Amino acid sequence: TGPVTEAVLGALAHADSVRRLEVRANADTPEDAARARALGAQGIGLCRTEHMFLGERTALVESMILARDDTAREEALAALLPLQREDFIGMLAAMDGLPVTIRLLDPPLHEFLPDRTELAVRVASAVHPDPHDRQVLHAVERMHEENPMLGLRGVRLGLAVPGLMAMQVRAVAEAVTNRLRAGGRPYAEIMIPLVGTVEELRLARAEAERVLAEVTAETGTHLDCPIGTMIELPRAALTAGRIAEAADFFSFGTNDLTQTTWGLSRDDAEASFFPLYLEKGVFGVSPFESIDQEGVGRLVELAVEAGRTVNPHLETGVCGEHGGDPDSIHFFHRAGLDYVSCSPFRIPAARLEAGRAAVTERTGRSDTR
Ligand code: PEP
Ligand code: MG
Repeated sequence: TGPVTEAVLGALAHADSVRRLEVRANADTPEDAARARALGAQGIGLCRTEHMFLGERTALVESMILARDDTAREEALAALLPLQREDFIGMLAAMDGLPVTIRLLDPPLHEFLPDRTELAVRVASAVHPDPHDRQVLHAVERMHEENPMLGLRGVRLGLAVPGLMAMQVRAVAEAVTNRLRAGGRPYAEIMIPLVGTVEELRLARAEAERVLAEVTAETGTHLDCPIGTMIELPRAALTAGRIAEAADFFSFGTNDLTQTTWGLSRDDAEASFFPLYLEKGVFGVSPFESIDQEGVGRLVELAVEAGRTVNPHLETGVCGEHGGDPDSIHFFHRAGLDYVSCSPFRIPAARLEAGRAAVTERTGRSDTR
């Protein structure tokens, strides 16, 4: 190693010795998880499971979501279970001994199933001889959403499609059991996305606990699996005290929280009028890049405080893109979060920045920059 490498490693070691924020990674393949771990990630803060259903598995997901009868849905779920279990075994093995937060399916259906009308026609027609039949047309109608990012997503989908959450939770439980039997140290956490009310979380949690108990009874292996939620809707942040009654942890999804707080589409923000508008200085900040402290940041602060008042053991982190942004990391440190989670390639910079945030707090100035 040359002098530059040594200096960088020294800075990272120093940052690690002073920082209070843990740094985790957003990753959903064992390869990315291993890469993140080599860069110093202390776990996976967000494993997005929707990416695991792309490619050849998409057809199974299509038939699961659009199944017109229980048998078809159950068959699709039964076919998905072993695939999903293998996914989780891979993630838990790559992060052995460290937490892996597995988020239940949150497919923005328009990205995941881009041509949903076409899809609905195809799936419905496949099970019905007449494509103009009322039931077929109804299936197509059902799939139409003006704004899919504000529609059938996250926990809403999980509660709407019978067996979907149970399949994923069972895959987690079986993967943990498998890793324990192999002598590993698996720490899986189950995360429920896009929760807006405590009732949604209670329903999802009850379903997850039911499945965990079922697998425990089958295998005789006790499963200690925290269940928490994303806080990514203003309503969730504002009712965080209620939501904390049913959550072991909060993970702030600042991508959606920014979108919903600003009423600004995250998919369109960079491409359309927004850059011009920003130049005028009207917004003051570029909220998808750096945390908007007065708005989105306030919601984070309120939720952390309310959540911890109700549940002093509540773990808190952030897994939106802001988790890897330097200024935002300082903010999350001040807000008292336990961890930030970001893309693997941003891990070293996040470690440094978390260290700087701790030094700044102690000395009142940022003397390591
Ligand atoms: C978020 O909304 O900030 C988040 C991490 O979830 P996703 O980007 O997958 O919607
Ligand atoms: Mg989100």
